[in-house]
Amino acid sequence: MADTHGLWKTTAAPIRPFPSLSSAVKAEVAIIGGGYGGLSAALRLAEIGVDVVLIEAEQIGFGGAGRNSGLVNAGLWVMPDEIVRRLGPSHGERLIDCLGQAPARVFDLIARHGIACEAERNGTLHCAVGAAGLAEIEERARQWAVRGITINRLAALETVARTGSPCFVGALEDRRAGTIQPLSYARGLATAASHAGARIFTASAARRLVRRDRAWCIATDWGSVSASWVLVAGESYSIGALAPQREAQLRLPFFNAATMPLGSEQRRTILPSQQALIDTRRLISAIRLDRAGRLIIGSVGALRGPGGPIHRAWARRMLAKVFPHIGPLQLETAWQGVIGMTGDHLPRIEWLGENMLAIGGYNGRGIAPGTAFGMLAADFIAGAVGEADLPLPIGQPERRRFRRWREAGLEFGAAAAHLADQRF
Ligand SMILES: Cc1cc2nc3c(=O)[nH]c(=O)nc-3n(C[C@H](O)[C@H](O)[C@H](O)COP(=O)(O)OP(=O)(O)OC[C@H]3O[C@@H](n4cnc5c(N)ncnc54)[C@H](O)[C@@H]3O)c2cc1C
Repeated sequence: MADTHGLWKTTAAPIRPFPSLSSAVKAEVAIIGGGYGGLSAALRLAEIGVDVVLIEAEQIGFGGAGRNSGLVNAGLWVMPDEIVRRLGPSHGERLIDCLGQAPARVFDLIARHGIACEAERNGTLHCAVGAAGLAEIEERARQWAVRGITINRLAALETVARTGSPCFVGALEDRRAGTIQPLSYARGLATAASHAGARIFTASAARRLVRRDRAWCIATDWGSVSASWVLVAGESYSIGALAPQREAQLRLPFFNAATMPLGSEQRRTILPSQQALIDTRRLISAIRLDRAGRLIIGSVGALRGPGGPIHRAWARRMLAKVFPHIGPLQLETAWQGVIGMTGDHLPRIEWLGENMLAIGGYNGRGIAPGTAFGMLAADFIAGAVGEADLPLPIGQPERRRFRRWREAGLEFGAAAAHLADQRF
């Protein structure tokens, strides 16, 4: 997990190891994927007394759940009005409402199960760069306000005080949001699900899926699960029997880099309320602190090949520009993953077969939406909600054309953009 899970692997709360599947087991529901979607579904189902088995190809949090930047966001990158335009008023408003409440679901689970994951529920700052950035955050605030949600609009001076940076001309403070140690959160969900009665197996990739006698049989290397329902939550890390799932998404490389812990004087001035910062530039970046005071910066790009030195140098340069008063910072570690992007940047609930549901497509915002969708999928499978109550119509998987070429273009484009990025 060295340059894949980086800092999170080092600072994650320990977890009791789960066995790999080595026999034939039966369950009412089988879940494939040990990230937020699969784990929150397993927890929910186990809590209402459903017999559930979860299999994970690697370890808990191996996918995006153990690598991400840890920003628990409310909503998507897509603006609320645009979501309604794409989905229609009924599903659109329901999705906005579901995702707006999703951070509360995350922080409630953390509190209810005592998950030690550096949770900070102080809100996040969406910071405006230039006049165009200001117009964007004002429009975003307006669209939330129409829906009865107040997002605090910070003036330039207040933004300087909250961020410790002179680079932004204003910000939106979304108090619904916050930050976590993402791998610890995934591990905490797994422990809670296991305590509730879910059977969890790691190092157990689903290799084949066969429908037989009104049940699904999932074969792993050394065992099998048969269940009448299957929930697929492999997202952009789908392998084995789920490989076709990957065809539906573009995999956008994304990395994080963390500095050494800042000194107490530096910590007093930089993001003093432990709020994470994202900005309005096209090539997104996110900056936050961990509990030990390391600054973590994330952006688009892969660390392999020439991308490694380019993105690391950009991260150092960017931090020095955003926080000019603290001088050059050393990076302690950097790590990377991939984000699954859908064609319209909206998540998905899909039928893969009779009684086989897939959730995913969070477009880089999967902590809160993944948790909410996992819980919703569990409720749907248990019969507690119907299709009409879901925030999205249940669709069919699509194929992205020229996927590999476009992914290579994204990786190359990110390196070129970071090489050239001298702005602010
Ligand atoms: C670098 C980076 C930064 C990000 N930053 C943020 C952020 O700040 N905030 C945010 O909300 N989101 C962020 N994201 C996105 C977020 O991490 C994902 O949306 C989220 O992890 C999705 O959760 P999931 O459970 O659907 O999938 P994952 O966490 O990817 O889990 C899927 C799991 O399924 C397993 N699997 C796949 N195939 C099989 C199989 N055949 N058999 C068994 N198991 C299988 C995989 O091994 C994996 O563990 C970021 C992502 C990355 C990569």
